Amino acid sequence: MTDLLYQTDSYLREFDAAITAVVPEERAVSLDRTAFYPGGGGQPCDFGALAVGGMTYPVERVKRQGGEVLHFLGGVAPLPAIGSAVHGVMDWMHRYQLMRTHTALHILCSVVFRDYGALVTGGDMEPGKGRMDFEFERLQKELVQEIEAAVKREVAAGREVRIKILPRQEAFQIPDLIRTKINLLPEGITQVRTVEIVGLDLQADGGTHVRSTSEVGRVRVVDYKSKGAINKRIYIEVE
Ligand SMILES: [Zn+2]
Repeated sequence: MTDLLYQTDSYLREFDAAITAVVPEERAVSLDRTAFYPGGGGQPCDFGALAVGGMTYPVERVKRQGGEVLHFLGGVAPLPAIGSAVHGVMDWMHRYQLMRTHTALHILCSVVFRDYGALVTGGDMEPGKGRMDFEFERLQKELVQEIEAAVKREVAAGREVRIKILPRQEAFQIPDLIRTKINLLPEGITQVRTVEIVGLDLQADGGTHVRSTSEVGRVRVVDYKSKGAINKRIYIEVE
């Protein structure tokens, strides 16, 4: 099992770990602990590098596989051995942009639910850009400006973003989590990680977020699209 350091500290830019498995045909290694996010919940995986002895390997892709996180290494250098000590360094620009974008999307979906009662059905992001789909029949152009203004107010409010890891039973008692379809979590999961924007939003979520909504910085609601009578897609950008 890889210890997922990013779950409790999304601000780790570097970390030390040991190689626990090597998959030569994929040029991939597992670590006992990692700060690399393997992707999921609409957030793309991290990039960066692993230094082992005198060698530095670019990390070109990261993927979760069972309880392990696989780090796919670029280059042609011989792979390091199991048990080797590694020093991981994140591509921080990429990661931090994703943290700001991800928190901005949580602000967007909470504001849209609070002000219009519209539920989110999906979302996706890349660094600095994101989109969310809503069941939002009455969305029209004028509302886009209202939504943008509300999102900006929540960024300016500097709300704290709080991460918790709760036992499954405890999480299932929280009404806000039931609304965001916590009951869809697989049976075997014994703990639920929650992301709370204090006073605004609470979700079960595995992604990496900024500490305060103020770190989202400049955000714009850039466009929306009808995906049918009810389903609408809203696009945001963070600078
Ligand atoms: Zn999320």
